[in-house]
Amino acid sequence: MTKVVKFGGSSLASAEQFKKVKDIITAEDSRRFVVPSAPGKRFSADTKVTDMLYGCYDLAAKGKDFTKEFEAIKERYNGIINDLGLDINLDNEFDVIKACFIGKAGRDYAASRGEFLNGMVLANYLGYNFIDAADVIFFDDRGQFDAKRTNKVLSERLEGLENAVVPGFYGSMPNDTIKTFSRGGSDITGSIVAAAVNADLYENWTDTSGFLTTDPRIVKDPAPITTITYKELRELSYMGASVFHEDAIFPVRKAGIAINIKNTNDPEAPGTLIVESTSQKPAFTITGIAGKKGFTVINIEKDMMNAELGFGRRVLEVFEKNGVSFEHMPSGIDTMSVIVTQEEFADKEQEILAGLHRNCHPDMIEIETDLALIAVVGRAMKANRGTAGRIFSALAHAHVNVKMIDQGSSELNVIIGVSESDFETAVKSIYDIFVETKL
Ligand code: ADP
Ligand code: ASP
Ligand code: MG
Repeated sequence: MTKVVKFGGSSLASAEQFKKVKDIITAEDSRRFVVPSAPGKRFSADTKVTDMLYGCYDLAAKGKDFTKEFEAIKERYNGIINDLGLDINLDNEFDVIKACFIGKAGRDYAASRGEFLNGMVLANYLGYNFIDAADVIFFDDRGQFDAKRTNKVLSERLEGLENAVVPGFYGSMPNDTIKTFSRGGSDITGSIVAAAVNADLYENWTDTSGFLTTDPRIVKDPAPITTITYKELRELSYMGASVFHEDAIFPVRKAGIAINIKNTNDPEAPGTLIVESTSQKPAFTITGIAGKKGFTVINIEKDMMNAELGFGRRVLEVFEKNGVSFEHMPSGIDTMSVIVTQEEFADKEQEILAGLHRNCHPDMIEIETDLALIAVVGRAMKANRGTAGRIFSALAHAHVNVKMIDQGSSELNVIIGVSESDFETAVKSIYDIFVETKL
């Protein structure tokens, strides 16, 4: 039996957390390959080392003095090393990193040092081999993850090793520079390592007792999800359930390896099992609720729009030409709405409006901003009539005005658009109706 175990930032934020991690790893011989994140927050007002590195590098890139900020990062690692009484000294590493910051080695390089150094410390503490992710995880010329090359090199490298630590979050480009995945990307590394060693299970250790039915920052102590399918999980993590990176299922999904989300601070709790499919009925009609703020809707009106051949294509062409991808596109007979992220849209706004006027000759275009999207996800929704009705009556009772509805064709999810100021109230009211009152 072989397990790959990934520990997130809060699981490795201090010496005390490192001890819990070692206890978990040594409790089972099968926990052979370890993927650590950079040290995270020790308390809620604390700063993650990854964010400290970005901040520090931004100063370096502007040619400003970053001595104080760099010392604070050193302090995080030296604190852990001293508290654990380890025989390791990172001074040389810090000298190299400082020189690379001055030489403007790039933001990705800077951020990756969080995992790199934490991996070194953890490998020393466990007495395991340390493998630099730059030597085994590869991106191609376009910056896309190179699964084929990675899998070959990584599996050869790990074969025959009883144990190893492979830091999460980064790999290397064909020109040997460092590239990271997007934020939260150590989850992806864990999945890649699990696929490379053909693991029996990928355990993802974090600070909650599994994937919860909704965001614990919105609802206090939400019920954990016992079993969730890859598809449901992807819908929820894409829509803001940041506990597990939405792209991290791909490497293991292909290999049919299950993922178990577990709590470092409560190792006995069963956590959440993520599987391809299951006959297990979810505890509630819905599996989970997630959501995100920061969307903009572009409402386009034109009489007889539905009769105009190619109208939709011409609208989307404008977005495509400006490099903006759309999230949803609900439509009526004479209306069409395109929902995009504010972040992507903001810089291209005027070009897109001009393009729509030129390409589509609409009667009216209206922009509505500060929209939040909420995804209500569940494999059981298909078989339960009236789910949408219950969602909308819950929202009506909570005085939330629904601005948009989109039901995915798989009947696995319903997406609801509400004003950002109604977001938390809306999530709570949907949670209450399905989970608290078990409707
Ligand atoms: P790690 O450092 O272990 O990778 P993250 O901070 O990336 O952990 O993810 C865990 C956090 O995700 C939780 O502490 C919680 O605040 C947040 N979160 C958001 N939605 C959910 C959810 N549905 N279930 C569990 N945690 C969630
Ligand atoms: N340390 C990185 C981040 O903060 C990657 C991760 O934690 O997964 O985004
Ligand atoms: Mg994470």
